[in-house]
Order: sequence, then structure tokens, then C-alpha cells
Amino acid sequence: MRAMILEAPDNPLRSVEVPVPEPGPEQVLLRVHTCAVCRTDLHVVDGELPDPKLPLIPGHQIVGSVVRSGDLVDRFAAGDRLGVPWLGFTDNTCRYCLTGRENLCDHARFTGYQIDGGFAEYAVADHRFCFPLPEGYPDLQAAPLLCAGLIGYRSLRMTSDAERLGLYGFGAAAHIIAQVARHQGRKVFAFTSPGDTEAQQFALKLGAAWAGDSTQPPPEELDAAIIFAPVGTLVPAALRAVAKGGVVVCAGIHMSDIPSFPYEILWGERAVRSVANLTRRDGEEFLALAPRVPVHTEVVPFPLEKANEALKALRAGEIQGAAVLVVDRHLTPV
Ligand SMILES: [Zn+2]
Ligand SMILES: [Zn+2]
Repeated sequence: MRAMILEAPDNPLRSVEVPVPEPGPEQVLLRVHTCAVCRTDLHVVDGELPDPKLPLIPGHQIVGSVVRSGDLVDRFAAGDRLGVPWLGFTDNTCRYCLTGRENLCDHARFTGYQIDGGFAEYAVADHRFCFPLPEGYPDLQAAPLLCAGLIGYRSLRMTSDAERLGLYGFGAAAHIIAQVARHQGRKVFAFTSPGDTEAQQFALKLGAAWAGDSTQPPPEELDAAIIFAPVGTLVPAALRAVAKGGVVVCAGIHMSDIPSFPYEILWGERAVRSVANLTRRDGEEFLALAPRVPVHTEVVPFPLEKANEALKALRAGEIQGAAVLVVDRHLTPV
């Protein structure tokens, strides 16, 4: 099969022919239809996350259909369309798993990082971590729901019932979460890189009450902020923007260093927290909610062989919505 592989961090992905993987007893073999590209893929490729499997097939927002299954798979049949998210394995025995926090599992393994992902014509995945996908979403539009949507949704939950919500970085996750937040009756304030008027227009089109530069204060106090951009200087900026009792949620897996800041901007019971990974419950909740909003995902398609161009465009902030690799056009038969 054709696959885009990372041989060493900081190198472009290489297009290679590799054998189609064999599903283990708990795994399904999927024909990959589409795979969305996430900022976490960039962090892996750029060597900002430690110890990836090498060589690695990146990609953790896979839409595919079941070709065949291992002996212990009882949930899905050949032909079923599934989504494969970032969380690819948990031990089910550690203190985190036993208390409903499998996103923090001591032995978790992640798709497109420690497990080969979806930048390939076929992928294997543990069926216990796959999701059935809502029917109204074509393959291209469904893919970004699987990380931008899921982890964005978990981040939104961490803001509880905050009414005035700031979103820092208006990329794949924010464009989905803005729609969910509006659906829930919240008021959205979108912050972008200074001068990115295109992203600001996009945010306003999706129902944001205000959109502006991240260096600016919002026109009114916020009750919570979610930082999607991997930029540590946004943490004190967001703390300054939130009201007493407000929370600043850092939603990314990697961020540049956070500069020191005066205690007074944290005072007043403001909080800073991160969001790590997802639980399967997050996935089930969000995939049931998305069609009810309904969330529309804006996508920029790239053919599989152009994965490097997709990563480059994402790095440069040129993608409006989510970049998605289209995989199943010239498929090697198995
Ligand atoms: Zn992701
Ligand atoms: Zn565990």
C-alpha cells in the first residue's frame, strides 16, 4: 500500500510502498477514506513531542471502512464506516482508567504517534477505541470531528457554563467549537494572529460576536478562554481578559514557554488548566451532539501524496477550517 512515513523528526514525510498491516485479535483493518491533519501531527513531525514510533505513519483523524476484523472483534462488520481518534489504547487497570479518566492513562498509546495512523491507504485500529460516525457527514467533513471536534469539545466542557467565551487561535478546533458554543447560547470572541483578517472574517461568519487580534483586549470581560494556538504568551493575555473566577484552558499538546506574569492576573480565583487527550465518552457525546448543532466543518482537501504540502500550509496558518487528506482514490487492492 501507499503510505506517507516519517523516518526521523524534522524531515519531510516520504511516500513509500509498505505491506498492508494485518489486524491483531482486537483490531480492525480499515480502508482509509480520509484523514484530517491536526496541529499535533505538526508537533510530531517537527520533533516537538518525544519518542514517536519510527518509522511512523502519522494521522489520527481517520475515516475508513472495515475490510476485515481480528477474532475478538464483535462490534463491527465488514463495510462499516468508522472513525479512529488520537486515543488508540489504554491499559484499563491504572488509577486513571479506574476512575473515568482514561485520557490520563499511565500506559495510553496514541494513533499517529505510538501507533501507525491514517496517512496511508490502510490502517489497523483497536475496535474498542473506534467510533461509528454520524451518517449526515461525508468522509471529508467527518474527519475533522475526530480530533479538532473531540478535543475541542472536551476543552469546551472545561469552561462549564461560561457565557462569554474567548477562543485564541481560530483554526480547525475553534471553527467547530464556535458553532457548538453558539448552539449552547454562549457569546464567542475570536482572537487570531495580529492582522489575520481572513480568519477574523471566518469567525464572524460562524457566529462570533467579535473577532480581533490576540494582542488586543476583547470589548468586554470573558468568563472563560480556550487557547488552541501553541503560543505560551497567550496565557497571560487570556488571564488578563477573563473575569474573576474565569478559567483559561490550554487545549494543545505542546506550547511554547509561558512567560512569568504578575500574581494579580491570576488572583480572584482565576484558573489555568490544560486538557489532555480524550476519553471514549467525550467521543460518544460529541459525535451525538455534532449533527444536532449541526456542526458544519469547512475543509481544505489534499491528496495523500501532498501530505507535506498540507502540513506546510497548516504550519503557515493558511488553512481555513481543517486540512484533510483524501486517500482512497487510487487504492491498492488487498
Ligand atoms: Zn489532533
Ligand atoms: Zn490506564
